[in-house]
Amino acid sequence: MTTTVPHWLDGKAFPGDLAKTSPIHDPATGEVIAELAHATPDEVERVIASSSAAFETWSQVSLSKRSSILFRFRELLVEHTDELARIVTREHGKVISDAKGEIARGLEVVEFACGIPQLLKGEFSEQAATGIDVYSFRQPVGVVAGITPFNFPVMIPLWMSPVAIATGNTFVLKPAGRDPGAGMLIAELWKEAGLPDGVFNVVHGDRSVIGRLLTHPDVAAVSFVGSTPTAKLIHETATKNGKRCQALGAAKNQGIVLADADLENAANNLIAAAFGAAGERCMALPVALVQDEIADELVSLLVEKAKAVKVLPGDHPDSDMGPIITEQAKARITALIDSAEEEGAEVLVDGRGLVVEGFENGWFLGPTVLDRVRPDMRINQEEVFGPTLEIIRISGLEEGIALINASPYGNGTALFTSSGEAARTFQRAVQVGMVGINVPIPVPVAWHSFGGWKDSLIGETHMYGPEGVKFFTRGKVITQRWPHREDEAAKVSFHFSGDSQK
Ligand code: NAD
Repeated sequence: MTTTVPHWLDGKAFPGDLAKTSPIHDPATGEVIAELAHATPDEVERVIASSSAAFETWSQVSLSKRSSILFRFRELLVEHTDELARIVTREHGKVISDAKGEIARGLEVVEFACGIPQLLKGEFSEQAATGIDVYSFRQPVGVVAGITPFNFPVMIPLWMSPVAIATGNTFVLKPAGRDPGAGMLIAELWKEAGLPDGVFNVVHGDRSVIGRLLTHPDVAAVSFVGSTPTAKLIHETATKNGKRCQALGAAKNQGIVLADADLENAANNLIAAAFGAAGERCMALPVALVQDEIADELVSLLVEKAKAVKVLPGDHPDSDMGPIITEQAKARITALIDSAEEEGAEVLVDGRGLVVEGFENGWFLGPTVLDRVRPDMRINQEEVFGPTLEIIRISGLEEGIALINASPYGNGTALFTSSGEAARTFQRAVQVGMVGINVPIPVPVAWHSFGGWKDSLIGETHMYGPEGVKFFTRGKVITQRWPHREDEAAKVSFHFSGDSQK
């Protein structure tokens, strides 16, 4: 009998009526490993009511108490890293070391949020006018919904929830239906860390559940990460319903390799950034824009290294790359490679049709290197989200920047060079939110913020870091005077500026 993954309500598992469920698969075997409960409308109401009630008390809890819970949560995440990584690998398919990598990046955000007393200190202007002090601080917004994608089932809930909770909000997680297990363990760890019941709830389900989160009057803010059409829909619906919303979307990151780059280093970085997590990363680097004069040399390095990538189930000790998330995704990626070949790209390493011994029903694809791709080819126009590396040959930096800036997306990019001048030109001209110089996947550390430009982020504020604090709080400014009866200032004044100029 398969188990059913329940919701998490008021500090405990909540199965709901189980009228509707959906299967969760192990992508390495294709087998169903569990079922996922879908919430009914009444159950969504219960979850939001619990979060609203918890907000009344949690928002009053002292900063030092909140911070101590975050410190404990951090320790528990460290203690449970192996268990969390195993769950991620089983449901998502990525290799264990990569699952641990995403936990480490999430942990960084928890560490950032541990410093919340410092982050919420506010500002004070003493004697802004005679006898008047002005000060400002930020307060939580209320119930926050976090809707997350399948590809980082630990890191992305941890981009959002530690900052939302540290700033005094309550958080409802709606994890991706394909790999919800890590979100459930995170809920347990919050509870064990001493977080009061109802501050972190989890609800599962499809569009109807999300629709209620986006329209419910008691939800104040929505943090979303996923594909661009969904990001646009989420942002439009949430903001139309009076909520603040940050909706991070898809990506098609392109990196430039100039002739003066260290080619061995560039090749190693490109292979890792294109094929790590089977390319299912919003910060993957699936397109290399390579300067003509070194293109042949770099391509032969890439082919050699791509052929050496070991594709095995994610929990195999020798695995570099696991399976694709679903059979449908595998078919979609295969069709995109077919289309590139039909349009004239050279398939130098072909991952189609790969069969892993003992795992014949798993959803595996091998690394695929495509040379002489043109920007107008379908594969270059779409986000592949799979293990493909497209090579486009360019004349130099200017052409590379123009190609990057022509993309509707602007999540991440990278430049490989040994020229400081080229790097400076690139970082200033490129219309992308996160830029790497000889760094292929420039995911910012937690005390900066994460966010792309253009169709990679709908909304204004980036995720976590200082912008995360801003997103989950609203400002309040106090203008304060303590007048004596006999003061001039205490008398009636009809001037707008009053005595502030005195
Ligand atoms: P997705 O858009 O299919 O799903 C994301 C979330 O939205 C899930 O929780 C899902 O249940 C929900 N959802 C899906 N369709 C919906 C709809 N019509 N209405 C309301 N909710 C809906 O994305 P995914 O396949 O889980 O994740 C992959 C995508 O996420 C890729 O496009 C990737 O680039 C993007 N992504 C972006 C970032 C970033 O930081 N910009 C990070 C990770 C992933």
